[in-house]
Amino acid sequence: MKTLIATIALALMPAAVLAQEAPASEKPRWSLAIHGGAGTLSRDAMTPEKEAEYEAMLQTALDAGAKVLADGGDAMDAVKAAVIIMEDSPLFNAGKGAVLTWDGDAELDASIMDGRDRSAGAIAGVRTVKNPILLADRVRTDSPHVMLVGEGAEQFALEKGFAVTPQSYFITPMRLDALERMKAKQLSALDVDLKFGTVGAVALDQKGNMAAATSTGGMTGKRWGRVGDAPVIGAGTYADNRACAVSATGWGEYFLRVGVAHEICARLRGVKEFNALTAESDGAAALQPEEAEYIADSVMADVKDLGGDGGVILVTPEGHAVFSFNTTGMYRGRATSDGVNEVAIFGSEDKVSSTPDH
Ligand code: ASP
Repeated sequence: MKTLIATIALALMPAAVLAQEAPASEKPRWSLAIHGGAGTLSRDAMTPEKEAEYEAMLQTALDAGAKVLADGGDAMDAVKAAVIIMEDSPLFNAGKGAVLTWDGDAELDASIMDGRDRSAGAIAGVRTVKNPILLADRVRTDSPHVMLVGEGAEQFALEKGFAVTPQSYFITPMRLDALERMKAKQLSALDVDLKFGTVGAVALDQKGNMAAATSTGGMTGKRWGRVGDAPVIGAGTYADNRACAVSATGWGEYFLRVGVAHEICARLRGVKEFNALTAESDGAAALQPEEAEYIADSVMADVKDLGGDGGVILVTPEGHAVFSFNTTGMYRGRATSDGVNEVAIFGSEDKVSSTPDH
């Protein structure tokens, strides 16, 4: 009966009531999660030096974003700060060190979304911009569009004063070798990449605003202007102050088909609205970490059922920072105002989710 009443009340609730700003929490809190890709990751296949190198770079990116948030800065600035560091590192599949197309070029995709007003910017197939996430953000702030691709996006970059970066900057020996092995042995991108190295960050700032950003080179050997989920708002990236901020990494075709990032936010929003209607006190309306974890896991299970793999990071308005992946590992990190600060690579099982104690 309670469920029926809540459902009817939800249906009758005016859209304006549903589309509220994030509720102010009693004490300012912030939260940040980052990823540098998910995939087949095992300790046996990695030297201790390499592991330390990845962890140090994840920590540098996490610290850069966390500093913005701890200092009272905006979630949008925090996600950009973290993503730029990973774009500049050759370890990840974004910016320098991006995987290569069949023709041996780096073609970069990125997207960013501001949970305050759901303004969003995205670029795809760009070859000349050092930090694609900054160009995506300029599309958001300085154009009437959400997504620009290829030469048009590069023309926009030129007009906005972005420097032209040569292809040689992006191309690394590791990615050349992967492409050569793929061609010589007729392997798939998954065989040579082993992991998805896309980078992303999601943040909640002290004002209760959320943001999400994702940047990638796509998948090795991509052809015909292939674009994955990373630059597609709703698939690889989504942010909505009412529910969550999400960034994804994985086999993009499956994330596109599920609409992963929006699907997670939409389901979380439904739970929050339901909780608000049925709560006896304000506190009871808050999202529990288990609810966020359950929903992220369910959507990732859906991806797996279709045949895809990868992972997501998300933060909620309550400050929960959640990981969910259906691969053996994910390069990841999270930091919160409650003192959580950690980076990790491996998962102990096929699917691992994790949330901080709140
Ligand atoms: N999702 C990206 C794509 O399909 C790849 C990745 O996550 O590394 O383009």
